[in-house]
Amino acid sequence: MSPRAFDLPGATWRSERRNVSGWIFGTRSIWSRDWGKCCSFSRIRLHPALLRRSFSVSLEYHGGMDVKAEFLRLSDICVQVRRPPWHIVEEAVDNHWTFPVIHRPSEEESNKQPLLGLSKHPDEIAIDGLLGLYTPSTHGITIFRRGISRVAEILKASKDDLTQIVQLHEWAHALLHIGLEREDCVSVARDQSQWAERIGWMDKWFNGLDPVLHERLAQVLTHRGLLCLKNQASIPEARASVDRLIGVFERLMRRSPSAYRIDKFVDIPKNRIISSICLLKSGGLIGADAWETVVTW
Ligand SMILES: [Zn+2]
Repeated sequence: MSPRAFDLPGATWRSERRNVSGWIFGTRSIWSRDWGKCCSFSRIRLHPALLRRSFSVSLEYHGGMDVKAEFLRLSDICVQVRRPPWHIVEEAVDNHWTFPVIHRPSEEESNKQPLLGLSKHPDEIAIDGLLGLYTPSTHGITIFRRGISRVAEILKASKDDLTQIVQLHEWAHALLHIGLEREDCVSVARDQSQWAERIGWMDKWFNGLDPVLHERLAQVLTHRGLLCLKNQASIPEARASVDRLIGVFERLMRRSPSAYRIDKFVDIPKNRIISSICLLKSGGLIGADAWETVVTW
């Protein structure tokens, strides 16, 4: 039994805002055309000790024992493709910045009307406000399901794939805002009183960043994150799924306002992107034009 054709699950990672241990709840299902029925696993636990690197996955499945091996293989594919967005954006910057665990942003899905409607120009699909949003004052990420549904149709993409792209984009904004270097993460974990001082500084920097740069950097990190997923995917179907995600990212980018377009920056080495963000954070580089000159030098 080795089905060639299958659908990856409609996985939506949910983070519990105040849950320090890093539990993630959600319902996953994997549908195989060969089985002709659905298997589901109901709970995935991120083991806190393994939070940075790997998953501890507990599975429940419905189906005979004969499908177990295939089910586990498909689950591995799921884990290689649908990883938590914060892991992916942290890896996009080689973990140079990571989220302090107890200050990690929260994420929620909204069924309400998005803040922005679809533009009359179909080539002007903004991500922020229509598909998702990062709110710096609350460190909250919102995913707009209605906006995702409409745009997924336009892009001929699955809602799950588009949701994952939007999650990465919003988590990238959050990482640029409150991501800390390793020593600072340790320091804040030891002494929580440091957070108030640091957040004041981080708010000031983030709120003063050029709006074009906000979007370029979020898009560059999203794209880098997708490349990390692809490089780490060992199962052919997982690689194909990540290729499909990259295709959705590119189709969306082509129909987005110019600030979201990063064609000029996709081949820039990762270390140069990281150095440029360090320069922006230190005040050694200011504005989108200066950033572009430095990274494309
Ligand atoms: Zn954005």
